[in-house]
Amino acid sequence: MTPNVVTRSAELRDWVRVARTHDRTIGLVPTMGALHAGHLSLVEASLRECGATVVSIFVNPTQFGPSEDFQRYPRDLEGDLAKLAGTGKEGKAVDLVFVPTVEEMYPEGCTTTVDVGAPAEVLEGAFRPGHFRGVATVVLKLFNQVLPDVAYFGHKDYQQTVVVRRMVEDLCVPVEIRVCPTVREPDGLALSSRNKYLSAEERRQALAISRALRAAADVAAGGERRAEKVLSAMRGVLEAEPGVRVQYAVLVDPLTLRDMTEIRGRALAAIATYVGKTRLIDNIMLPRSSS
Ligand code: AMP
Repeated sequence: MTPNVVTRSAELRDWVRVARTHDRTIGLVPTMGALHAGHLSLVEASLRECGATVVSIFVNPTQFGPSEDFQRYPRDLEGDLAKLAGTGKEGKAVDLVFVPTVEEMYPEGCTTTVDVGAPAEVLEGAFRPGHFRGVATVVLKLFNQVLPDVAYFGHKDYQQTVVVRRMVEDLCVPVEIRVCPTVREPDGLALSSRNKYLSAEERRQALAISRALRAAADVAAGGERRAEKVLSAMRGVLEAEPGVRVQYAVLVDPLTLRDMTEIRGRALAAIATYVGKTRLIDNIMLPRSSS
């Protein structure tokens, strides 16, 4: 069944009011569309766990830099709705798809933004200044419009989950944040709407990213605690693939996102690269060594 689509915030609010009077917990899955199995895994989690599920599809201009791909970002509303129609089982289906226009989300005269501070300034924030201001601002707007009990995000954009959790805690937003595992192609490539930009040759080159993360995980699983050793395994794989231009390949504390020199407890390996003109990110939580 094709889900109901609303484009206006006022219509969304009407629906939310009714859903709340029926005591249904509301799950929100924020997306920029061009949906793939990664997005759909978040939708399925919400369908399983919540009484009602809202999916937002909005290519948010404020999280793109001036030289980034906002204009050419893939858009396919019809395809997205067909994919959403295929989700759920036992009578459960997406209740509402919110597809606002830019004017609806950013009416003339609006000036307020959300700055999360330190966790937004490293890694992605260092290479994409202002990116997380755009993300935090749009996510808070969506939270205030949908009033979800639970909101679903992917591990694939790990830093985004840290930034959103920080914002929710700091601004006392009454929503639970759930983080779902990264969905990958069978050969390891993390699903991303931007994979559509890759030529066949670039797609092959991009496999070095997940290979590098696996190499880091293998070294850590073997008991290595020195970050430099884990990093050199990861960077070695990336350097062996000249088609991949690395922006960062790091090992960080998953809570603070600060570089680690020695692995104690959990550690996140994270990579950002250009493959041709396409910017790809990926990450993996390193297994705790048994030794
Ligand atoms: P986007 O449309 O790229 O803004 O992504 C919307 C949500 O889907 C974000 O929470 C992403 O982290 C999540 N997501 C994107 N790719 C994947 C993936 N391969 N596996 C799981 N979640 C993903």
